[in-house]
Amino acid sequence: MSVSAGSVLGEPCVLLKLGEVVLKGRNRELFETRLRSNIRGALKDYRVEVRQRHGVIAIFFPSDATAQGADDEVAEAVARRVSDVPGIVLVHLARRVAKDPEVITKAAIELIKDSPEVARKARFAVRSRRRDKRFPLRSNELDRLVGGTINDTYGLPVDLSDPELTVHIEVDRDEAFLFTGGLLGQGGLPVGSSGRALALLSGGIDSPVAAYRMMRRGLRVDFLHFSGIPFTTSESIYKAYALVRNLDRFQGKSRLWVVPFGKAQQSIKVSGQDRLAVIAQRRLMLKTAEEVAHRIHAEALVTGDSLGQVSSQTLTNITAQDNAVDLPVLRPLIGLDKTEIMAEARRIGTLAISELPDEDCCTLLAPRSAETRAKIEDLKQIERRLDAEDLAVQLADSIRPYKLDDFQQ
Ligand code: ATP
Ligand code: MG
Repeated sequence: MSVSAGSVLGEPCVLLKLGEVVLKGRNRELFETRLRSNIRGALKDYRVEVRQRHGVIAIFFPSDATAQGADDEVAEAVARRVSDVPGIVLVHLARRVAKDPEVITKAAIELIKDSPEVARKARFAVRSRRRDKRFPLRSNELDRLVGGTINDTYGLPVDLSDPELTVHIEVDRDEAFLFTGGLLGQGGLPVGSSGRALALLSGGIDSPVAAYRMMRRGLRVDFLHFSGIPFTTSESIYKAYALVRNLDRFQGKSRLWVVPFGKAQQSIKVSGQDRLAVIAQRRLMLKTAEEVAHRIHAEALVTGDSLGQVSSQTLTNITAQDNAVDLPVLRPLIGLDKTEIMAEARRIGTLAISELPDEDCCTLLAPRSAETRAKIEDLKQIERRLDAEDLAVQLADSIRPYKLDDFQQ
């Protein structure tokens, strides 16, 4: 792109449209402050200025970043990076120009010059919004001015009801923004605005999706993985680590703890009835997780259970698991089908990791037939023999941290 084209086009910038954050009434400012701070965290490797006006956050690049090719790439990378930050619905790669009708018109012409829609004479529309009502033209007047010039210049037909190309113009207090398409954001609420939770992360497909769903509802999520070591290899730990690494782009500063669970599983195996072993183990996992949650000030547990998916997830067995702990157990996937969960895992990039082979700690205990209607009294009896409350504290004492602070690539 030539220097003059760059100056006609103005500076690249990124505009973010917020979702439910704008509905938050009196708490809105808190939510927005949190969101801006999350955005700055996600962009810590870039030199940017994050500014907010009304329901829109704008990301600018400092003045030595001009409108040249290399900076377009940076703006694109920034747009992609922020599209992972929960609380944002739409991300637009935009151009900032002076708020002057003639400047805006020239920029619009330049903006779409090389687009395939112009080449194939696609139907187009211009949509303007004024956040500054003192701007000399009304929105529909600006639409007509810019639309007319585009029509004269490129011969594209106007189609207001079903355009293939839409040129958006937003006239703000100090400047105007122009853009065409946009990236979908994650939606939801800013991470941290709902508190903190501890997710039980296996190496499977479901639990990473469950953790993602709760991040998107504003929870900061820490991760706990139960490994069968010393009776299994460390593969499941590497998988858990890889999953957390991947999920970290949604929240940053993720933390993973690993519980060496093999010996406890052995005790369950020798102490109880085979058919109850899986539920007894799940209760011990939850009790251990609750103990860890208290220590890190997490207010809920998260699991990837989906009703009826496997025998440990019948309604009776889920009730028996809830009974093991006082903290709420959040199960965001409870009503989803496996195919829906897999589609989401694919979209957030965890599916390929989850599908890697590993030696899940649960295979140590897999009985030939598992109880689908576990009785809480029977489970409590096993736990008395195991001294499960003490065991959970000991297991919580033995957790190993994996810090993932410097993750964001
Ligand atoms: P996933 O795909 O998440 O492993 P699943 O369909 O295989 O789920 P289960 O194996 O019954 O179902 O596990 C149910 C939930 O229990 C998991 O989603 C996870 O939250 C938790 N869980 C199971 N195994 C482990 C583990 N080894 N470490 C941590 N959490 C676990
Ligand atoms: Mg599993």
